[in-house]
Amino acid sequence: MPVDAAPQTFSAIPADCAGGILTIDLSALAANYRTLRDRVGPAVTCAAAVKADAYGLGAARVVPALYRAGCRTFFVAHLAEGAAIRPLLGPDCTIFVLNGAMPGTEAALHAAGLVPVLNSLEQITRWRALAHQTGASLPAALQLDSGMSRFGLSEEDLGTLLAENAPLAGLAPKLVMSHLACADEPAHPANHAQHTAFQRLRARLPAMPASLAASSGLFLGPDWHFDMVRPGAALYGINPTPGQPNPMHPVVRLQARLIQTRQIGPGTAVGYGAGFIADRPSRIATLAVGYGDGFPRAIGGRGHAILPTRPDIMLPIVGRISMDCLAVDVTALGSTPLAAGTALDLIGPHHPLEEAAAAAGTIGYELLTGLGARYHRLYRDDTSPQGENA
Ligand SMILES: *Cc1c(COP(=O)(O)O)cnc(C)c1O
Repeated sequence: MPVDAAPQTFSAIPADCAGGILTIDLSALAANYRTLRDRVGPAVTCAAAVKADAYGLGAARVVPALYRAGCRTFFVAHLAEGAAIRPLLGPDCTIFVLNGAMPGTEAALHAAGLVPVLNSLEQITRWRALAHQTGASLPAALQLDSGMSRFGLSEEDLGTLLAENAPLAGLAPKLVMSHLACADEPAHPANHAQHTAFQRLRARLPAMPASLAASSGLFLGPDWHFDMVRPGAALYGINPTPGQPNPMHPVVRLQARLIQTRQIGPGTAVGYGAGFIADRPSRIATLAVGYGDGFPRAIGGRGHAILPTRPDIMLPIVGRISMDCLAVDVTALGSTPLAAGTALDLIGPHHPLEEAAAAAGTIGYELLTGLGARYHRLYRDDTSPQGENA
């Protein structure tokens, strides 16, 4: 991400007073979408998972950027998430609600122009009841449990359903889908077991488009693509092939701004619980991002920050993370001037999301979706036509 390119600003918190700056590169996001779409080829639909506010990055900006990149199929988890993005999209777009409709919200889901993923016999019954009431044939996706034991009809459920008279009456099935539990471990035997189970189960249904793969599944190869893939993480720059080079562009940069520095002597404690004690003369910087910003407390004593002008030096985060700040040992910078307000990278070009997540004992998904509302958010879009920034 070019640091100097004029960014487009969109945030409630002005840059000059923000403690942290979250930069989201919509051009990189669009490039990632095109990479994935090209990888599956023109015969396969490349949808986008934009649940949890587009993995914390802001669905209001991410969804239109994906639309401009050519995406027409979107997955959210909840009705409210779908309703929020529906006005951003044309009638040429389909929004699937992964969790299906909570009881009593079927009519609202339909009125919002959304399509439920029907995960259980009960959800199917309720959706058919709405179809019966309205006299219309209602679009739906059907989920099958191919082995993750989370969502979808089991083999037994499917048998129960198909034993009914006209089991899909009132439904206009758009998609049959399932989800892989271990796609990020290509050699895991569960992958082939799920593939086989999915094929066996869907063969019992009338022919309809099928989807099995999310980000990592897409990289397992063409056998896994079926008619539609549903990447989320890879769009946002999370490595879909853990342990191998990341084929995606980084989308997120997280910076914390410096409040003050101090010189401390050996034996001096830093932070709550005296969690760090200097063993040499040290220069400590206090940065204005803490767990109140969703920056994980678990990263205290394990993570790093980087001064963008000295990307060769990893600066250890020392002591416990506070709610509103964290401490970094900047001794290695020597006498490099560090003015108040200077932005240091917590996630950035020289410190990938995965490294920060690993230091916190978590995954990029959780780190991204946890990033709070207190950052100044910069949306960078080098490809956006004038006026798209409203
Ligand atoms: C979240 C989700 C996706 C996207 O998964 P990624 O690993 O982020 O690509 C796709 N399908 C379903 C059912 C999901 O829940």
